[in-house]
Amino acid sequence: MTTPPLTNWAGNVTFRARQVHSPSSVDELRHLVASAEHIRALGTGHSFSLVADTEGDLVRLDGLPPRIDLDRQASTVTVAGGLRYAQVARELHRQGFALANMASLPQISIAGAVATGTHGSGNGLRNLASAVAGLRLVGPGGRLTELRRETAEDQLSGAVIALGALGIVTDVTLDVEPAYDVAQWVYDGLSHDRLAQAFEEISAAAHSVSVFTDWHADTAQAWLKTRTDQPGAGYPGDDWMGARPADGPRHPIPTMPGTWCTVQSGTPGPWHERLPHFRPDFTPSSGAELQSELLLPRAAAPEAFAELRALGDRIHPCLQISEIRTVAADDLWLSPAYRQDSVALHFTWNQDTAAVLPVLAAIEERLVPLGARPHWGKLTTLAPQDVIGRYERAADFAQLLALHDPAGVFRNGYVDDLFPRKS
Ligand SMILES: Cc1cc2nc3c(=O)[nH]c(=O)nc-3n(C[C@H](O)[C@H](O)[C@H](O)COP(=O)(O)OP(=O)(O)OC[C@H]3O[C@@H](n4cnc5c(N)ncnc54)[C@H](O)[C@@H]3O)c2cc1C
Repeated sequence: MTTPPLTNWAGNVTFRARQVHSPSSVDELRHLVASAEHIRALGTGHSFSLVADTEGDLVRLDGLPPRIDLDRQASTVTVAGGLRYAQVARELHRQGFALANMASLPQISIAGAVATGTHGSGNGLRNLASAVAGLRLVGPGGRLTELRRETAEDQLSGAVIALGALGIVTDVTLDVEPAYDVAQWVYDGLSHDRLAQAFEEISAAAHSVSVFTDWHADTAQAWLKTRTDQPGAGYPGDDWMGARPADGPRHPIPTMPGTWCTVQSGTPGPWHERLPHFRPDFTPSSGAELQSELLLPRAAAPEAFAELRALGDRIHPCLQISEIRTVAADDLWLSPAYRQDSVALHFTWNQDTAAVLPVLAAIEERLVPLGARPHWGKLTTLAPQDVIGRYERAADFAQLLALHDPAGVFRNGYVDDLFPRKS
């Protein structure tokens, strides 16, 4: 048991938990849940919102057996939910398999990332939760529940992105595919005018495309990640969309060392060493930061870019870097990309909440009318009821919540604000 206070990775949230447990077996976890009034899981604490906070107990799963069971026949792997993507990816690759997608960093836990709809980038790539074929949860009273795609597809679509509210996820079954290689190129000097005019072409130019900008300068930087087993995977050229190849390794934040990032300049390498921007053995991003992100219909991208450029003078002084990514539509009820091919507009801010929140409010005021939904794990100034009002399956999720956790054992303030309890 850890003695609080405990903070999230960024240090902007001090968890109010009375106790933090680290069980070493599922039976011990079941016992803890059965005896707790309020309890929820903590992953690696990389969320910036209050999604993981509780006044009850927190439980970390990194002490549970580090299960990674590959089922070659079914093309799935079942892993302990507390494992980090880096651990799972290394072992999967060793056995000749891969995941379809990864986030910018491999340090986050599988269950925590999935619970908040974490995503990478790619017109054809859905968020990480879309790979979930099954979950095993410890529910109220320590009861074990299995939800599998074959037998409970609809419930699973509701339960995957669940903000930690349906129980403690001990095991996650993920779809896998044969291992593949990826080559990554970085281009400097992509003009904002070109970005706005040709965004569909730019975001389709590789398996995974990220564009970095501060919304103030006239140009942006593009990272293109191509699968070497796909057509058109070669060098994009000395002049790509008017941009030029970077003359050395780049970090998304211009003041940080490029050597902290995954290998660039087109050298092919394993999928899990190219899809994330950050290496597992270095601090991802800057470490001293806040983050926010909004997902919008992809077709709204040019209009959203114009709004952000108009706010460039206000954004720039508080910003470390902003990233533009795309996320393919999925069917998960609480997914910000639910049934909508999306563009994700991410902001890595200076760690100065008082300066950042008014600028974030101005951004949200302009992007909400374009259909923006905030990332569950990042900061927003939007009222919870305005956020949840943008989810057509919200009422279905509220029912699922009532079914799985009628007494609200796994609820916290964040969940109560989104899904008020019926009195
Ligand atoms: C540097 C950095 C880079 C990032 N890059 C990206 C990115 O590329 N794409 C993106 O979409 N997001 C990104 N994020 C956000 C991050 O992926 C999410 O916040 C994610 O939830 C973090 O996972 P975690 O394990 O830290 O979860 P936590 O923050 O610990 O928890 C998140 C939620 O999951 C729940 N939870 C955790 N474990 C379990 C479990 N076993 N059972 C049930 N519920 C559980 C918690 O209760 C909480 O509600 C980034 C964050 C940082 C700090």
